[in-house]
Amino acid sequence: MNVRDSEAVAALLVAAGHEPAKGEEDAELVIVNSCTVRQKAENKAIGKAGYLCAMKRKGESALKAVGLMGCAVARLGEEELKKQLPGLDFCIRPGHLNEIPYLAAGADTLGAHPERCGFSAFVTVMTGCDNCCSYCIVPKVRGHELSRPFADIVREVECLAHRGVKEVTLLGQSVLKWREGETSFPMLLRRLAEIDGIERIRFTSAHPKGCTDELVSAYRDCPKICRHLHLPVQSGSDRVLKEMGRRYTRDEYLAAVKKLRDFDPEFSLTTDVIVGYPGESEADFEATRTLMDEAGFDNAFVFKYSPRPGTRSAALEDDVPTAEKERRDQVLLSDQERRGLERNRRLVGTVREVLVEGPSKRNRHRLSGRDGGNRIVVWDAGETKAETGSVVRVKILEAHPQILLGKVV
Ligand code: SAH
Ligand code: SF4
Repeated sequence: MNVRDSEAVAALLVAAGHEPAKGEEDAELVIVNSCTVRQKAENKAIGKAGYLCAMKRKGESALKAVGLMGCAVARLGEEELKKQLPGLDFCIRPGHLNEIPYLAAGADTLGAHPERCGFSAFVTVMTGCDNCCSYCIVPKVRGHELSRPFADIVREVECLAHRGVKEVTLLGQSVLKWREGETSFPMLLRRLAEIDGIERIRFTSAHPKGCTDELVSAYRDCPKICRHLHLPVQSGSDRVLKEMGRRYTRDEYLAAVKKLRDFDPEFSLTTDVIVGYPGESEADFEATRTLMDEAGFDNAFVFKYSPRPGTRSAALEDDVPTAEKERRDQVLLSDQERRGLERNRRLVGTVREVLVEGPSKRNRHRLSGRDGGNRIVVWDAGETKAETGSVVRVKILEAHPQILLGKVV
């Protein structure tokens, strides 16, 4: 979501007549987009803004103005931030992007995209969040849940298709809850799948309650909807899930997984997990480990619990020692390496439809892209001149925990 907001701000600044800088070195204005979901993320953003303010004060570079946007602004407030960051020129709260000085007034901040978008674009379909997971600062800093109008979303995706975008990722904190009157999220998906030029539709994040038969039949009927879901589980322990206020049990979560994998055994599932939630016992942690095995995740992001002031869980003692959080983090990551490899091995010999992203970061002689399951696929560029944004068919020859190697067929 922050990447999307940054893109919108950049596009609006350009539309208002500004020119993009080559980098930080020649920029006259830098706006730092902050995250506050964990303390570490917030510290990083504020540290960066502090460094830029100091650079501006020295006057040895082109830098004339520094701004701060994003969720840390909502959490800490402008007054506190200006105290912490002498020289900071302005602060912008989430959802108030059109208040950025240097912008033409009245800009459509949700619909703005860079003039030359790539082949893939983010589209906001919901803002805010009305869930109240005990550990989470998002509802406080991003405000109430709001579904964007159907017509606005369709218009934006049509516009993107017109500019050559092939893949859209719909964004919302609990995106399956999107609704407009009688129109449900799967109905929105079906409408977007009709747009010519759009080849892939993704969305994130999802909640197991939204994994309905209606969603599965949209997957079945519309091949453009990628068979990948980011379905954050957070914990495998019913006790912890209840304390977190996640509104599902371990069994309900696994039933959602089963529904998707019964429909397509290759259905790709990724997740978020928190380790070291207050009171998380060894048995709770073991429950998370076994759930992850049962679910057979294709990939997982593991976060060490970080108390966020003002959330319900911040009142609880942060009693899992840092070293233990670290250990649990490492255990889950190494489990996932093994699991990712096992899942990927099953795909050896299959042919994947891959959207070409460009040269591989690690080896310039190879091209890299993603299959519908969001798996990274890499192949020798050789004779094939696959263009960025085109779809090629790649036969998988070799599996690694995070990557599939193959050849174009
Ligand atoms: N709306 C999404 C999650 C958004 S926040 C959902 O509910 O699925 C992204 C991830 O950050 C969460 O899934 C969670 O794993 C992690 N996270 C949020 N608050 C956290 C905290 N206080 N400490 C550690 N990780 C946290
Ligand atoms: Fe945070 Fe829960 Fe909302 Fe996700 S659903 S943003 S974890 S409150």
